[in-house]
Amino acid sequence: MFEQDLLNKFNTIPTPFYYYDVEVLKQTLQHVKAESGKYNFTVHYALKANANNEILNIIKSYNFGADCVSGNEVKKAIECGYSSEHIVFAGVGKNDAEINFALDNKIFCFNCESLQEIEVINELAFAKNKIAHIALRINPNVNANTHKYITTGLEENKFGINLWELESVVSALTDLKNIQLIGLHFHIGSQITDLSSFKSLCMRVNEIQSWFVSHKIKIENINVGGGLGVDYHEPDKNCYADFAAYFQLFSDFLELRPNQKVHFELGRAIVAQCGTLISKVLYIKKGVNTNFAILDAGMTELMRPALYQAYHKIENISKNQKLTTNNQQLKYDVVGPICESSDCFGKAVNLPETQRGDIVAIRTAGAYGEVMSSGYNLRERVKSVYSDKI
Ligand SMILES: *Cc1c(COP(=O)(O)O)cnc(C)c1O
Repeated sequence: MFEQDLLNKFNTIPTPFYYYDVEVLKQTLQHVKAESGKYNFTVHYALKANANNEILNIIKSYNFGADCVSGNEVKKAIECGYSSEHIVFAGVGKNDAEINFALDNKIFCFNCESLQEIEVINELAFAKNKIAHIALRINPNVNANTHKYITTGLEENKFGINLWELESVVSALTDLKNIQLIGLHFHIGSQITDLSSFKSLCMRVNEIQSWFVSHKIKIENINVGGGLGVDYHEPDKNCYADFAAYFQLFSDFLELRPNQKVHFELGRAIVAQCGTLISKVLYIKKGVNTNFAILDAGMTELMRPALYQAYHKIENISKNQKLTTNNQQLKYDVVGPICESSDCFGKAVNLPETQRGDIVAIRTAGAYGEVMSSGYNLRERVKSVYSDKI
């Protein structure tokens, strides 16, 4: 993936930085557009995966909506030109200022996670003499079979309204005059690679829909959230998630009522593969059973390995260019400079013999990478470079 002339350019740019391959992003967006378009599904991009202006502008140019989880994300989406009628706003802890901002900007829908939240939205909407459109975020108790920190649809998770609360929440809505129920919302987790989890979700949605039908409540919108996973192990071979199978599954298994619209909120599957964290090797150190390759990037730039033991493919792209058949691989613990033992990108990683100054690429880092970067240890905020501007 990284040709010699790109490597030469990388060698002239101060590291670490995120490199975004704009062509990969555009190809991904084209797949999403084509496959979701077959069924007239609406896709909202989940800003929390990557909220860079350049990335947001490219995604917006494909006419996707925006899925936001904070007031500032709503603001950012609007500033970037996403139309407010295509903004959905989820989150278990929306504060009053965030709710007011979203009300003032007439967003499409609040995805609501508790009755108390709905009551607060009702009060704030009443004060503004507005009607807030809401969807109930229902916790479907479906296992996403992914890491526990990115599982959100089980009863033990903090997200959404539990099934046994549904009856009381729905009956309370009748008294809330500044609330209009326009949909149901679900989001069971992230990095889901086993599509059968989505099939289970569809089945549960169908059951819940029948409940609403039996209560004679009309639901116009079904939002099934995001969570489609990507291949962290083989980013070149499987650069694009299987969007065809993903959207077809929902078309096959969701039982829709007349005129119902289906919404998706994809984050990771759109932006993960276009981003790579580029870093330089500072030092090589011998440990007891391993070698350490100490990079100039750390958990401050890419937190996923430290936060949830996430795997990222690591490549020494300086040496890969010169790789010969008899070039032997050594094992390295690839670590960052931060004063935490969790600041490790990979243990016992096979790399060609690695030296100070080599460029290391940490792949599939476009989602939940740069957005989670921090200034811990008073580090500089990580920079980004785009393939069409390099
Ligand atoms: C994070 C999140 C998403 C996006 O999840 P991905 O796994 O990145 O697709 C969608 N909807 C909600 C409510 C979220 O919190």
